[in-house]
Amino acid sequence: MIRVSSVLLAAYVLASLWFAAFVYDRTLKTELRVLQENGTVRLSEAASRLRLQIDGFREQANFIAHTPSVTTAMAADDWHRVQDFLVNFSLTYGASQIDLVDRTGAVLASSSPKKSDKTPSKTLLQAALNERLGFEHAIEDQKRVIRLSRGVRLSNEQNDGAVILTVDIAELEFQWPVTPEPLIFYNQNAQAISSNRPELLLLSFGDGSEEGELDLRRNRTLAGFETWAFASRADAPQEALVLSKKMPLLLLNGQIIIDIASVLATARQRTGLAAALALVLGLVVAIAVQQRRRFALEAQQSATLEARVEERTKELRAAQDELVEASKLAALGRLSAGVSHELNQPLAAILNFSENARKFLERKQSNRIDENLSEISNQVQRINRIIGNLRAFARQESAPNERIDFNEVIKSALALVDDELASKRIEVLLDLPEGSVFIVAGKVRLEQVIFNILTNAIDAMSDTPERRLSIEMTVVRDNATLIVRDTGPGIADPDRVFEPFYTTKDLGASKGLGMGLSLSFGIIQQFGGTLSCRNLSAGAEFKLSLPLMEKQDAE
Ligand code: ADP
Repeated sequence: MIRVSSVLLAAYVLASLWFAAFVYDRTLKTELRVLQENGTVRLSEAASRLRLQIDGFREQANFIAHTPSVTTAMAADDWHRVQDFLVNFSLTYGASQIDLVDRTGAVLASSSPKKSDKTPSKTLLQAALNERLGFEHAIEDQKRVIRLSRGVRLSNEQNDGAVILTVDIAELEFQWPVTPEPLIFYNQNAQAISSNRPELLLLSFGDGSEEGELDLRRNRTLAGFETWAFASRADAPQEALVLSKKMPLLLLNGQIIIDIASVLATARQRTGLAAALALVLGLVVAIAVQQRRRFALEAQQSATLEARVEERTKELRAAQDELVEASKLAALGRLSAGVSHELNQPLAAILNFSENARKFLERKQSNRIDENLSEISNQVQRINRIIGNLRAFARQESAPNERIDFNEVIKSALALVDDELASKRIEVLLDLPEGSVFIVAGKVRLEQVIFNILTNAIDAMSDTPERRLSIEMTVVRDNATLIVRDTGPGIADPDRVFEPFYTTKDLGASKGLGMGLSLSFGIIQQFGGTLSCRNLSAGAEFKLSLPLMEKQDAE
């Protein structure tokens, strides 16, 4: 189990790492591509802007070369007029200097008050004299300039001179909009001739290993893109994309440097999110797996428990069955002992009386024979009664219930024990409600129950000095309750008195077999009532409750 868990954990960690790496790489690729596209657009915009600016000056050179006011004045050697024109023109249209030179390059007229004796470069002059538009850029005394030239023709055969326009690049940069990325235009010597960052000007493209070099170095390849870094500049991007564009017409090479810090931050952020997602997913899966395991374990445990409970129940049932069998046998034993005891006595008496009768017959004493015969008949009746009791127990005799007066039943049961009460000098306290208390029950059976309770009470008081029998009936709500109290020694074991064959009386000497109360209990239950007992401080109490007829009707 442990091995499986650790393999799963390792697989999960690997999958999470792979997922995070995938998200990082994917984000970098997409975002760097977007950055590259945007940068290319911005570099193209900047290049077009510079071209437009320079084109304006080209047109100016064209215009000056062909304007009649210049050519006419030149033809008439009116250099003052030419100079005035050039000054006005440069002031109006922004060229920093306009010179008019002859075929050798010597300055004939200039917009600048300090007429320099410096001749223009050969390429510039040749281009103009050969009917082309000359173009070059130069760095002079830390000043970055663009020069444009155009031939001036006085006669038809050839160009007699040229217009040279000098433009200060700084003036052009001044018109550029502010952009966050460094923009650099390099000349043919890879020297930064123009830039929107003054600190980068005049540096040549390189890794900073030599004096005057830009310290831009190749850094690494990131998601398929080459990145660059400035080695020492604190304010420069830590890591950047460098995009270039060749501008052959202007003899320049444009470059834009785009900081990728935001892309790296986005990639880190998304990777963090992916890792968090993987963690949450992992946790959810782990919890689900844990839950499933717990449920499975619980199901297994409850199945085992159920099986054990079933097994124990079977065992218990078997034990119970055995007990029941044993107690049945014991009860049967007690019953046969009791029955044989009970029957033995009258049978012995019958034997005795019949032998006596035979003797009296021999002696012809007919009156004594009669006595013996009636004794025999008494004993047979006694046997009958015992057998009747047994039969009642066996069959749980059930005559139909009828509407009877509880009071009347109590009185007739009491009448049955009247003689015994008197002979044993038992005081009777009778407290019954006036009138009738109607219940639905079997009259004979109820009488039997009450008779049994009364005879038990009488038996209990046979050896006590104080002999009082209290019979009281109360009617509370829907129930009539008969309470019989005696002043005997109390019940030896109140929990067992309703068990069949439970008796504390000597077998044979009594009239019962320990069946009276158990029979009574069953009979009262049949009537929908209850029978209970308890010990008092002196004596025992039996309580018999039966529902009143009105309640039964209502139901
Ligand atoms: P039996 O009268 O044959 O013993 P019962 O079922 O009527 O059978 O009574 C069972 C036992 O309950 C009696 O043997 C006796 O121990 C006990 N008992 C019943 N009534 C009383 C009573 N009023 N006082 C004390 N013990 C009683």
